[in-house]
Amino acid sequence: MTAPATTTTVLAGGRVVDPASGTDAVLDVVVTDGVVAAVGADLAAGLPEAGVVDCAGLLVTPGLIDLHVHIMAGLGNFCVEPDEAGVDRGVPTVVDGGTSGTATFDISRRAVIDHPDTRTNVLAFIDANQLYLATKDFIAHRLHIADHEGNLDLDELAACAERNADVVVGCKVRACHTGDPRHSPFLDGAHKALPNLPIMVHLGRFPHTPVIPPRTLLEALRTGDIVTHAFRGGGGMRGPDGDVVPELLDAVDRGVILDIGHSGTDFRFREARQLFDRGIMPDTASTDLNLFNVNGPVFSLTETLTKLLALEMSLIDVIATATVNPAEAIKRSDVLGALAPGRRADISVMRLLDDGPYPVSDGHEVVDSPLALEPVGSVRAGEWIPVPARVPSYAADGWSWTAPPDDQDW
Ligand SMILES: [Zn+2]
Repeated sequence: MTAPATTTTVLAGGRVVDPASGTDAVLDVVVTDGVVAAVGADLAAGLPEAGVVDCAGLLVTPGLIDLHVHIMAGLGNFCVEPDEAGVDRGVPTVVDGGTSGTATFDISRRAVIDHPDTRTNVLAFIDANQLYLATKDFIAHRLHIADHEGNLDLDELAACAERNADVVVGCKVRACHTGDPRHSPFLDGAHKALPNLPIMVHLGRFPHTPVIPPRTLLEALRTGDIVTHAFRGGGGMRGPDGDVVPELLDAVDRGVILDIGHSGTDFRFREARQLFDRGIMPDTASTDLNLFNVNGPVFSLTETLTKLLALEMSLIDVIATATVNPAEAIKRSDVLGALAPGRRADISVMRLLDDGPYPVSDGHEVVDSPLALEPVGSVRAGEWIPVPARVPSYAADGWSWTAPPDDQDW
């Protein structure tokens, strides 16, 4: 499976599934100098064997994108290393979900995003505040920094996003209020400072600091804004009668994006079934991967995708939630989310196991999936990077975390 670095790598004989083009066929993919040179049948013939990765029986997709992870390792106390969320789990691109505010973003960039040891393509949503620290004890909320208007500097927010435009894809907002529950100065401020970038908001509460109610939050979102943890239980997407609230239907109609943002407690099969039955589907799948969920119940992006398969979404729709859809959500579909000649070679290779049942857990409920996805490797910046070790999963490792606290997410 391992191929030495060469200028040409061929992913040979895999089932290429690319929702961006509707492709689903057994094809070879030729990568030359970091660019997809060709996608077609029988392209590997005559090429030196050393540059060929045998993908027979495997899925070959555009490079997976995990839209919500926490990988600013060393900032706060709960991040995983970028490659642990990224290429070591077969995911060439990850997007940090607002671990850093603007005041610490430049050092986070030097220490993590641009660090020579980081092989994963790292993008980021910045927190709207100057100071935000994602910690297990919610220090930014406990000290009332997260809901202190003095922590906002909208000029610096705009400047930080501009200065880091190559990696900053938007803003993460914890929609706290400062007394008037009809308005969040942090959400309003982010919209004002970044009129053209998506805002990712957290659906749910925080300890210590009040947030605006879900229906008010949904009403305040623009086209292209992203609701993460959208399928958490009790998130206010459905009213007391169980029906979808009109504010959610309106938001979906105007193009607000619904993201899984699994986390330890923020994805519930029960809630997802209710919303799926009413036609409310996830646009993007993401893990919210951090130190406290990486060994269960989340494990990996591919395990999260397996959970969507368990809920009977089709394979091509599931692959779309981690490729073309997140690429569009972060306005990077010119370089990410599709597999076609001339494009940068970010590619994922997975094994589709079809001899289930494969049990998966949302942290509360175990469901048997007939199918499971398992990461094999990825092409990142033209280089084939095999997944170095078996990635843990519920099916193989189980999970013994009891009674997770609510809102263990950031
Ligand atoms: Zn998060």
